[in-house]
Amino acid sequence: MSEHKALISLYAKELKLPSFAARYAQVLREAEQGGLGYEEFLVRLMKGELQNRRENQRKQRIRQAKFPTMKTLDTFDLKNLPNVDPAQLFNLAEGNFIDHQENVVFIGNPGTGKTHLSIALGVAACNKGYRVRFYAAAGLVNDLVEAKEQKRLSRMEKQLRKVQLLILDELSYLTFNRASAELLFQVLSSRNERGSVIVTTNLEFSRWTEIFNDPMLTAATVDRMTHKSHIIDTNGSSYRLRQRLAQTSVAGGPLTGQA
Ligand code: ADP
Ligand code: MG
Repeated sequence: MSEHKALISLYAKELKLPSFAARYAQVLREAEQGGLGYEEFLVRLMKGELQNRRENQRKQRIRQAKFPTMKTLDTFDLKNLPNVDPAQLFNLAEGNFIDHQENVVFIGNPGTGKTHLSIALGVAACNKGYRVRFYAAAGLVNDLVEAKEQKRLSRMEKQLRKVQLLILDELSYLTFNRASAELLFQVLSSRNERGSVIVTTNLEFSRWTEIFNDPMLTAATVDRMTHKSHIIDTNGSSYRLRQRLAQTSVAGGPLTGQA
């Protein structure tokens, strides 16, 4: 008996099935007590291993996303956002926008929950099995500049392309220099049709020149970010933003215009 025990433990380790060794005795007892057959015993053991593995992968995706803090939609008071349809957020949390390479832009004043919502959608995406990476926008630009200096930019860009949902938090008055702005633009434009981006910003699109310091680059970036995009106004009431939304006809749904 103990010889079997030792072998099960050894094989489970070799086969990388840790829950087999940990759980088989318990499952065996259940099977004996419940009068289950061999197949049902095996099914229970395998199911446990699968659940264990999925949970570990989920935790790993959350670790790799590098969220600064954990936030979820459950802890968000949606009544605070008169311009946001809760159904739209719950829908985004399902993750289908990632399958369709759609983007999400949260625009609103400081403290209106943009970072919270971007993390909440990121966590929901991790739970659904998507690969996610969260960056403070300035942090990503710094990393890109550093990667370029150290001649490993293409490696970094390749890694970023593997991410299915890239979150860029706080695209604000950073006023990048030309080279930095171009690096960021390159990342955003390489994702077009390949991956999703969530951006949070306190600047409506008409003021994005203040981020990029260059009209052409700004126009191209806004174009990328509003193509197939869910634009969410987290402000209590911002007449100008709504006007802007009406102009680009994106309020409440994905855009299907040309890039
Ligand atoms: P922003 O990124 O727009 O500046 P944050 O997401 O950082 O705002 O929000 C600031 C703090 O307030 C965070 O701790 C966040 O969890 C909380 N918060 C903001 N809006 C809400 C809300 N509607 N419900 C619950 N917590 C909120
Ligand atoms: Mg924020």
